[in-house]
Amino acid sequence: MAEKKKTTAKKTEAKKETKHEAPAKQETKKQAPAPVGSTTKQEARIGVFICHCGTNIAGSMDIPAVQEYAKTIPNVAYVDNYKYMCSMPGQGVINKAIKEQKLTGVVVAACSPRLHEPTFRTATKEGGLNPFRFEMANIREQNSWVHMHDQEGSTEKAKDAIRIAVAKASLLQDLFPKAVQVEHAAMVVGAGVAGMQAALDLANAGIKTYLVESTPSIGGRMSQLDKTFPTLDCSQCILTPKMVDVGRAPNIELMTYSEVDAVEGYIGNFDVTIRKKARGVITMAEGEARGIVGGGCNGCGDCEVVCPVVKPNEFEVGMKPRKAIYINHPQVVPLLYTIDFNSCIKCGLCVTSCGEKKAIDLEAKDEFVKVKVGTAILATGFDIFPVEKKTEWGYKKYENVVTSLEFERLICASGPTGGHLIRPSDGETPKKVAFVLCAGSRDNTGNGKPYCSRFCCMYSLKHAHQIIEKIPGCIPYLFYMDIRSFGKMYEEFYYRIQDEGGKFIRGRVANILEDPATKNLHVYADDTLLNRPVDMEVDLVVLAAAVQPMEDTNRTRKLFGVSCSMDGWLLEAHPKLNPCGTTTAGVFLAGVCQGPKDIPDTVASAEGAASAASIPIHKGEVELEPYFAMCIEERCAGCGMCVNLCPFSALALVEKEGRKVMQVTEAKCKGCGTCGGFCPGGAIWMNHFATPQIVAQIDAFLLGGEQ
Ligand code: FAD
Ligand code: SF4
Ligand code: SF4
Ligand code: SF4
Ligand code: SF4
Ligand code: SF4
Ligand code: SF4
Repeated sequence: MAEKKKTTAKKTEAKKETKHEAPAKQETKKQAPAPVGSTTKQEARIGVFICHCGTNIAGSMDIPAVQEYAKTIPNVAYVDNYKYMCSMPGQGVINKAIKEQKLTGVVVAACSPRLHEPTFRTATKEGGLNPFRFEMANIREQNSWVHMHDQEGSTEKAKDAIRIAVAKASLLQDLFPKAVQVEHAAMVVGAGVAGMQAALDLANAGIKTYLVESTPSIGGRMSQLDKTFPTLDCSQCILTPKMVDVGRAPNIELMTYSEVDAVEGYIGNFDVTIRKKARGVITMAEGEARGIVGGGCNGCGDCEVVCPVVKPNEFEVGMKPRKAIYINHPQVVPLLYTIDFNSCIKCGLCVTSCGEKKAIDLEAKDEFVKVKVGTAILATGFDIFPVEKKTEWGYKKYENVVTSLEFERLICASGPTGGHLIRPSDGETPKKVAFVLCAGSRDNTGNGKPYCSRFCCMYSLKHAHQIIEKIPGCIPYLFYMDIRSFGKMYEEFYYRIQDEGGKFIRGRVANILEDPATKNLHVYADDTLLNRPVDMEVDLVVLAAAVQPMEDTNRTRKLFGVSCSMDGWLLEAHPKLNPCGTTTAGVFLAGVCQGPKDIPDTVASAEGAASAASIPIHKGEVELEPYFAMCIEERCAGCGMCVNLCPFSALALVEKEGRKVMQVTEAKCKGCGTCGGFCPGGAIWMNHFATPQIVAQIDAFLLGGEQ
């Protein structure tokens, strides 16, 4: 299969001199790329390895024709193909050829670099070359998969892709990753069940962990739930001990009522500024530090009793009041009151009732704290879609239409009704309850969410069970499109609810109208199984509302340089191979901030993220990809324009031999290329994406084999 070819390099020597040359002097010998001319087109010996990917690639193009063509590309010294290039034997083919053919560079024509660039870099290194003398031609995702019915077209496109990759590989240089020390500390943002689990795992692994939560207490949505499917455990019973563990863990520094304000730095050395919002109440430890004997808040609640300002309690989804000085529920961690300064009238009654404990400071201001961490985990969770946008279901218009989260609080023993499910309009016990599934999910109208919210089928089954159990004679009617009971013991739970008497109607609810006299609701739908319209009168409607990312997620993710999907869910580095990582090294994802997940999946993802985040910390040192910018000082006019353009503050002007020149902080540079594309003097050299390399690729594309 393997064939050696006569290089046609002589015929196609580079036509023009490029004015871009690598920096002559480098700060450290190890990082210095050789001048770009050191691997000239004449000297380069490139090996091309074409992957079949089973039939993924080979089924859509003529591999022998691509191979024959590759032999004619200038600088190509060796061409081979293999069924699965990423397999051990496939990598062995590359290894062997590097040694036997004295290759100076490697091109693998296969899938996306996102999937296997690291694999082939390792193979290149094992063959004895610098791992950055490797280039990938994507002939799968960008070719065979999209042109599977055009054999001829995809064959030609593969030839182009390989020719372009060879042009770059011919000019690649040795590069050396930079090693940086990793701070022995981590940060977790968001303290729902995901953030708490991740923080506990990190802390138990001996890592100092800062847990930042924007609300006054940890716990997140799970603390609002009554029971959890499919085991029907009491949510608070399993969550509260974990909350207490988090509050007590010596390695966890809990920062509630706080937000991340700024992030600087890179993996190993993130400098994070946290805004601690003015809480107006100090802890007992703070009291002690201020020399107040027996001072600080002990959670006695005297202040709450006297406070005259009443506001809706967010934890109870507005169905119960709270005061301007408050805790949202009795199990809060930390047990520390908070003043809502947006509604406080500063009457001072709370200060008087607090007395000698002197825990209240009505003049408190936001404080900013700086910490250094090696890695960070985002676990910012989710919010409920404002389902009132779907006006056809009458939420916020009809009193007896509630959301599932409101249902959780209404059925919960610690909720606003002490666990008695009632109709909000008259306090009566309902006899017929309609559950509207996919309320705002799987909705392509532009007025909802196109995705499945993943846990609402299951919690609606749980709700149906709860009313059958609690209210004898009450019948739950579930209007559904499909029941998605995909988890362990979930399908069995679905059958159980059917056996218990839950009624299932397959069809999307078109409209809900209230009978003004009785406040009953008419639910209109099409029963798509019996093929007939439905008009059902019920006492109460529960909307299984879609979920969406938390409001502040966008701001927070930008601080950490994390991408998001079109729907705003945070984006993992790779959905299959790196589901907890992000494209920012050292930043990981846990829980629903990444996309809807039930509690078991949330906890599993949190454990994965904690494990991934602890690896660099335990190693103590990480290597940064050497894709940073470099300054060709002779060309730099010291204009400083690039300094302001760099989004990562990696550039500065420094004084050298009586003039100003630009200097790069390599560890901060993300290799985005903004400065390189801008510099009017061509003074910036982008490692691995240098102008001559890119120009060679453009030439190879535009001029074909005639370059
Ligand atoms: P969250 O619980 O949302 O926690 C995120 C935390 O991050 C919050 O405390 C939030 O205040 C904080 N935060 C957000 N943004 C920031 C920021 N920028 N800075 C700092 N902190 C921030 N699952 C089951 O398995 N079984 C069930 O029975 C079940 N029932 C459910 C019933 C309903 C009505 C709903 C809506 C969900 C239900 N779920 C159930 C799903 C379950 O709630 C989630 O799987 C779980 O809560 C996800 O946890 P999380 O930590 O990822 O997110
Ligand atoms: Fe498939 Fe990529 Fe592996 Fe080739 S290298 S077999 S294209 S996954
Ligand atoms: Fe805390 Fe003082 Fe209020 Fe008691 S009265 S809960 S100690 S702030
Ligand atoms: Fe309530 Fe503010 Fe008056 Fe205190 S000062 S009692 S928090 S309104
Ligand atoms: Fe609809 Fe069920 Fe998906 Fe929720 S989980 S969006 S109810 S299909
Ligand atoms: Fe130097 Fe170019 Fe930056 Fe100006 S833009 S300071 S010339 S590197
Ligand atoms: Fe900043 Fe230039 Fe590096 Fe981009 S490539 S991060 S602009 S120094």
